[in-house]
Amino acid sequence: MSSPGSSPSAATEVTATAAAPAPDPALCPACKKTHTIADAAAMKQLAQTPKRLAKLVNRLDANGWKQSYGPGKWSIRQLVAHLRDCEMVYAVRWRKMIAEENAVLTPFDQDLWASGTVYAKQDGKQTVATWSLLRATNLEMLKLAGKAALTRAGNHPEYGAITAGQLLRHILAHDENHLAHIEQARATGRKPAPRAAKAKGAGKKAAKSRR
Ligand SMILES: [Zn+2]
Repeated sequence: MSSPGSSPSAATEVTATAAAPAPDPALCPACKKTHTIADAAAMKQLAQTPKRLAKLVNRLDANGWKQSYGPGKWSIRQLVAHLRDCEMVYAVRWRKMIAEENAVLTPFDQDLWASGTVYAKQDGKQTVATWSLLRATNLEMLKLAGKAALTRAGNHPEYGAITAGQLLRHILAHDENHLAHIEQARATGRKPAPRAAKAKGAGKKAAKSRR
């Protein structure tokens, strides 16, 4: 604080700011990884994912949808339902961040959603179609809101402050992660283990399922 009568010193303020390094905007508050892709490139890639996913699930029969990428892991049907629900949650998060001041983002428990809303029995094709529409409408909204909108932040009780742009880059990494799981499930063709739900909810994994 400057003493009464003295003019505020710009030099002091610069020093104070420089003492605390600015957080790296590429460091993701959600997954703690570094996402270096530019916003425009991320949006382009996000627009392509629905076509890639549609190709992956295009010819699945009833058993194909039940394939899982490993013992105790989600089936392809459960994975696409998870992608759709994340897109739905992000639709609300982005709108709150961009349109409201000091938006508070609500976490959700992905494993409880999967079991409680019966991902294992949802219609896979309809899920993928819904997800594609949600993705398209989210990207349209983000484009219309403009570049400045991506710098707007919200507060997540577990991630802390996160910007719309950081969420954009995170969801791209999230897409890639789960598309790889779907590719793996198609290649290995395993059926989900009967105790999948139990194993997923057990121990320290339970804490990680809140997003
Ligand atoms: Zn991330």
